[in-house]
Amino acid sequence: MPHFHLVFTLPSELKPVAMRHPVEVYGALFQVTGEVLAELGRTHLRATLGLTLVLHTWTRDLRFHPHVHVLATAAGFRWMGAGSSTPERTTCSR
Ligand SMILES: [Zn+2]
Repeated sequence: MPHFHLVFTLPSELKPVAMRHPVEVYGALFQVTGEVLAELGRTHLRATLGLTLVLHTWTRDLRFHPHVHVLATAAGFRWMGAGSSTPERTTCSR
């Protein structure tokens, strides 16, 4: 399956907030990342993308660096309208 690897990084100004409230900040980071990519799929492909998100909070040299890795399909399924039981596959052209 063709796919893209994307990384969304928490702005450095929010790192202190993430240290104090990790559940809320990481939850928001996941939610915003997923919503942005789902919206891009809808507006650019008119399709539902497959997304896998993974949170990393530290770099390899153990610096605090919250970010989300995303594997996003370069294709999706487009429902053809009311009464349609089979989705049509659509592919990103880039
Ligand atoms: Zn990482």
